[in-house]
Amino acid sequence: MNGIVGASGLILDELLLWEKGGKGRRGMSMVAAEVPEAPIAPELCGEGPDFPDLSEIDVVRHYTRLSQWNFGVDSGMYPLGSCTMKYNPKLNDRLAATPEIACVHPMLDDASCQGVLRIMFELQQFLAAITGLDAVSLQPAAGAQGELAGMLIFAAWFQSRGERRTKILIPDTAHGTNPASAALCGFTPVPLKSGADGRLAVETVAAAMDGETAGIMLTNPNTLGIFESNIRAIADVVHSGGGLVYGDGANMNAVMGIADAGKCGIDVMHLNLHKTFSTPHGGGGPGAGPVCVVRVLEPFLPGPRVVQDDGGYRLAAGGPESIGRLHAFHGNFSVLVRAWAYIRSMGPENLRQASRLAVLNANYLKERLKGTLHLPYDQPSLHECVFSDLLQHGAGVTTLDIAKRLIDYGYHPPTIYFPLVVPGAIMIEPTETECRDDLDQFVAALKAVVQEARDNPELLRQAPVRTKVRRLDETRAARHPCLRG
Ligand SMILES: *Cc1c(COP(=O)(O)O)cnc(C)c1O
Repeated sequence: MNGIVGASGLILDELLLWEKGGKGRRGMSMVAAEVPEAPIAPELCGEGPDFPDLSEIDVVRHYTRLSQWNFGVDSGMYPLGSCTMKYNPKLNDRLAATPEIACVHPMLDDASCQGVLRIMFELQQFLAAITGLDAVSLQPAAGAQGELAGMLIFAAWFQSRGERRTKILIPDTAHGTNPASAALCGFTPVPLKSGADGRLAVETVAAAMDGETAGIMLTNPNTLGIFESNIRAIADVVHSGGGLVYGDGANMNAVMGIADAGKCGIDVMHLNLHKTFSTPHGGGGPGAGPVCVVRVLEPFLPGPRVVQDDGGYRLAAGGPESIGRLHAFHGNFSVLVRAWAYIRSMGPENLRQASRLAVLNANYLKERLKGTLHLPYDQPSLHECVFSDLLQHGAGVTTLDIAKRLIDYGYHPPTIYFPLVVPGAIMIEPTETECRDDLDQFVAALKAVVQEARDNPELLRQAPVRTKVRRLDETRAARHPCLRG
């Protein structure tokens, strides 16, 4: 039974009609006009869409109820690995919503919007400092678009040198978007196998590197939550073969102010502001994936970028070698404002501390849960740890069942079946914002679920049982989406 049972015993669901409203209901009343009505030419107004008529309370209740059926970082722990679903200070939302910032029209001339240009300029500088790279473009509007920009920069660089290189090395622990981005730019992704310790070995890269290889794309920390500690030696091998090194920096939350991408030998790297820097990632909402490069690649960056000179701040279009624009205007500007506000309010030492705590929390969970769940790579982890359902196979319980049952305990499920190198993966990223009590409670919930898997596996296969919507047929939902209630 899906409905909420009310005190009278009625199933409230059946009373909560999805289609609301009735002709003639009103959410407001207009004051009488003080001037005579002026008729508007019918061709200017036409027939409006047939929206339902609703009173204010209909609308408020509808959206409030929807928000209560939803799960978000503000309602509970959201350990969705690889997404860094941390709590973000509301102050940053408030600043991004300031009318002086939110209402600036993107076609204003530079002189009229010095304040927002300054925010963009400073953010470019902050991100250069955080990554240890030299130049930044805020153009890409998502992590994957940052990768695309990076691959276009690789292609433009080799073209400018008259070299034709067609392959990109990508380890099996990279994020799935990496090979897709490389392929979109016409490169052939060459998969590399990681070692038994979950790291890429220098010899593996050396053996694969040849004159047709444009470079490597390395997610670091990788999707096992493990730091690719051979990164510098790997970069040296790739560079000496004439290739470039792309660092996928979406997992920056683990290493802010601690690992310097420039010193690691990375030439191009994107960041996910909608993970690390104060905008949540989940739900497919707006994002920003700035791309950062070493000095020699600066001419290829997408434009426009903000520069500062005697006249103040201004938008400078890319030069002749630039890969151009990635979209109209400046992307999801409010995400940039949140990142700027977050970095300014935290300062370098607190950013570093956030990363340290994110790593501490993941290691704490890893140590407390290994044995309860199978830990395929027993290595010190960074910001997330990856388990599997191997120990539950005997009971016929899978990762999906465990994830669904966790929902009944009030948790958003971890990321499941990713990374692909771990069959039945359960990828947990607690982030720095969970305190020890909350981590302990999460451990207790997972242990209880695993105990249930032994005692009553059917319970897990039926889960979730306490939610508004029971287990979905995800394939059918994707193939035949029903977008009405
Ligand atoms: C999230 C993520 C991406 C892609 O970012 P989107 O904004 O979702 O496109 C790329 N790489 C890694 C490692 C990620 O975690």
